[in-house]
Amino acid sequence: MENSSSEFNSLVSSLIGAEAIGSYIAGEMVSGDGAELPLVDPASEQTLLQFADTNAEIVRASIVSCQAGHKQWADFSAQRRGEVLAQLGRLIQRHAEPLARLEAITSGKAIKAARAQVSAVAEIFRYYSGWTDKFLGNVIPVPGGQLNYTLREPLGVVLAITPWNSPIYLAAWNVAPALAMGNSVLLKPSEVTPLTALVMARLALEAGMPAGTLNVVNGLGKTIGDVAISNPIVKKVVFVGSTQTGRAVNAAAAQRPISCLLELGGKSANIVFDDANLAQAARAAVIAACANTGQNCAAGSRLLVQRGIYDQFVDAVAHAIVEFRIGHPLDESADGGPINNRAQFDRINRMVEMGISEGAKLVTGGVSEVTGQGYYVKPTVLKHVNNAMRIAREEVFGPVVVAIPFDTEAEAIAIANDSEFALAGAVWTRDVARAHRVVAQVNAGLLWVNMYRDMHVATPFGGNDSSGYGRSSGAECLYEYTKTKSVWVPIAEGC
Ligand code: ADP
Repeated sequence: MENSSSEFNSLVSSLIGAEAIGSYIAGEMVSGDGAELPLVDPASEQTLLQFADTNAEIVRASIVSCQAGHKQWADFSAQRRGEVLAQLGRLIQRHAEPLARLEAITSGKAIKAARAQVSAVAEIFRYYSGWTDKFLGNVIPVPGGQLNYTLREPLGVVLAITPWNSPIYLAAWNVAPALAMGNSVLLKPSEVTPLTALVMARLALEAGMPAGTLNVVNGLGKTIGDVAISNPIVKKVVFVGSTQTGRAVNAAAAQRPISCLLELGGKSANIVFDDANLAQAARAAVIAACANTGQNCAAGSRLLVQRGIYDQFVDAVAHAIVEFRIGHPLDESADGGPINNRAQFDRINRMVEMGISEGAKLVTGGVSEVTGQGYYVKPTVLKHVNNAMRIAREEVFGPVVVAIPFDTEAEAIAIANDSEFALAGAVWTRDVARAHRVVAQVNAGLLWVNMYRDMHVATPFGGNDSSGYGRSSGAECLYEYTKTKSVWVPIAEGC
């Protein structure tokens, strides 16, 4: 387990099978010729492999190939598209264990979590396979003797840009509905986790998708972003990542203009009232903050606690967080793995330091050492935080939770809403009426009552304000991937 590199090499050759890693265009692996990009093992800091950044010509070729793929894919009957997506789900499930291990090694995600996500990927394709022939147009009762109906047509080529925190899961989450609606997709995974997307694209071909329907372009965001977004063949951008990069993507798309779906950062409020089941809330607060070692846009990173139970509850969270086992990604008993990359590891440490220097009190955890043997951080609880501090306002993207006291329901809502982000959140109380009052007033795309974190592909997911816009799952997201055509036909005599 100390050294996952030999397992890594055999997983790469069995799942990807190519000599060199590059972009996957119409079933061919195409190497770039740019700067060498290292793939670093987050658990050992050793370089697992290097691959060359892509170039503008390859990006353009991948888009042209997607255009050809789209023509064939859109010509499939809706039922046949559904069968192919269902088959892709089955193939993912068939390769689930090696895929989960490759995902764990390269992203740093704990193997238990990687398995759950790969299984969810199979479920995502299964779910959308059922939608291909069920997203219907309407017949609209217009006045006069005319028939008016709507057609839902695919957009064409969709560009999906995804991050490193949950690589294959977030790729599938965004690629599957686009494909289900008859679009082709150019997927651009993070340059630090380029591999599992390649496996997904290979399996898509094996499942019966025409070549070019799902291409993957691997390289730096700056090499690919503007070239792809400005290309007139690309009709939509779905972006999952930081708010800063999301703004740049949005600005580039606005020049065309084409629409975006943006899933960005969060600083979600997990609100605990004094009448809640505190033992349950404390355990959930740990998962809310630490799942995927906190590298999670919907993390419950602001813990709002009613003043009467503040000290007692924060202590309970601090005790419970110690039980959250950070370990090697392939350790079966680990709840969380190392942080994916050095830049993010450093950022988490800087944020913890900053919080303490702003006056927060460290309850447990703290700044993590640079050991040269993995980007392991300590789950951290900070108390005596007020919502004006930067540690309460900026996303950490690590297992760091800040505890903020409040007195009244109105104050809890005001603090929750005093954020540029509005992605998720939770309310803990035994008072049903209060739960619904709070839910109605908190600005977020997703709220839980007396629970935190459950998600399913069938329900809408997305945020407001600096957390982005659009909904990326459920039936709702199918509107994102279709354009409506309104058709008028005179049918009455003399019309
Ligand atoms: P992080 O900095 O944590 O990697 P980003 O939001 O920058 O988060 O990255 C998310 C995705 O966006 C990655 O696939 C990355 O390569 C890509 N990306 C980065 N910069 C750009 C850009 N200028 N245009 C398009 N995509 C980009």
